[in-house]
Amino acid sequence: MSKQILILPGDGIGPEIMAEAVKVLTLANSKYSLGFELSHDVIGGAPSTSTACRWPTRPWTRARAADAVLLGAVGGPKWDKIERDIRPERGLLKIRAQLGLFGNLRPAILYPQLADASSLKPEVVAGLDILIVRELTGGIYFGAPRGVRELENGERQAYDTLPYSESEIRRIARVGFDMARVRGKKVCSVDKANVLASSQLWREIVEEVAKDYPDVELSHMYVDNAAMQLVRAPKQFDVIVTDNLFGDILSDQASMLTGSIGMLPSASLDTNNKGMYEPCHGSAPDIAGQGIANPLATILSVSMMLRYSFNLADAADAIEKAVSLVLDQGLRTGDIWSQGCTKVGTQEMGDAVVAALRNL
Ligand code: NAD
Repeated sequence: MSKQILILPGDGIGPEIMAEAVKVLTLANSKYSLGFELSHDVIGGAPSTSTACRWPTRPWTRARAADAVLLGAVGGPKWDKIERDIRPERGLLKIRAQLGLFGNLRPAILYPQLADASSLKPEVVAGLDILIVRELTGGIYFGAPRGVRELENGERQAYDTLPYSESEIRRIARVGFDMARVRGKKVCSVDKANVLASSQLWREIVEEVAKDYPDVELSHMYVDNAAMQLVRAPKQFDVIVTDNLFGDILSDQASMLTGSIGMLPSASLDTNNKGMYEPCHGSAPDIAGQGIANPLATILSVSMMLRYSFNLADAADAIEKAVSLVLDQGLRTGDIWSQGCTKVGTQEMGDAVVAALRNL
């Protein structure tokens, strides 16, 4: 039976980068006889022509039925002033929660060809290969109550809630340890246990889970120190496991170690490894429509999809090899460009990856 992949380009640069990723996926599908059937739908603010952006239910239903989902990005200034609960980003949080996609894998790998594009010294980042495992369906982004209330003195007070249950912590910790087992066998759990009750429970449960993984070394780090260590000595990390909020911030920070957020793919997995795959970046409204966005994060998200949801390591390796070959050729979008390289647009970069994959 064919495997169904739902393509959701979204807003801003979403459709531009997705067009290139779909070209690569389509070629891989035929070249390696993968048996994928692709279908498309709209998501984000895109379905709406006005600011009355309502989150349609159709993509949810279709995403649930699909074997995997490939997403571009959602959101943009057009929807920034509307009520928070109907913003595109809220819809994305809901879809992740509804699909039970609690395990977010965000690899930060520095391609050696891009050592110059990193804002850190080459010797600090050369050979960098970190995996950030972020809890995606709990914590402060979902916690209730939340809102704005009026205090007795008439002043408004905004509040959010950061809840984590033992089972939520345990299952994401297991993902971190499982990943570390097939990598460098080190887990650093990042929290703020010196201040937050949720982090104290987090640390306790991670230590419990660690007992099942005696072959994996566990360390703990406060999030403020982790932010500092990521730019001081990032190669000390193998797998970082952390909560939703800290993971969101640290993975964006880690992206700059690799040169550009335009290089970072991600996977969001449920308990059966059904997943949604998307670049770590957003809809980049500042460059949308110009044909200059880097499509490699989305193309590398295709490779993660083949690896994690379909166990197709050879095809995934081939896509990553094709990306590496294109970087060897000196082709760069503006975000990763450096002196001596050839600046290309979104489409040329996608075409180059397709050509490299075809020739493998
Ligand atoms: P962003 O990631 O969209 O952009 C940050 C910076 O990185 C911008 O300068 C942008 O031009 C650049 N950039 C991002 N992707 C790039 C690419 N592929 N190639 C080259 N440069 C790239 O973050 P932001 O500006 O904070 O957010 C813009 C919108 O995206 C907001 O509405 C935000 O809510 C939304 N957003 C969506 C997602 C998602 O869909 N998963 C994630 C983050 C932000």
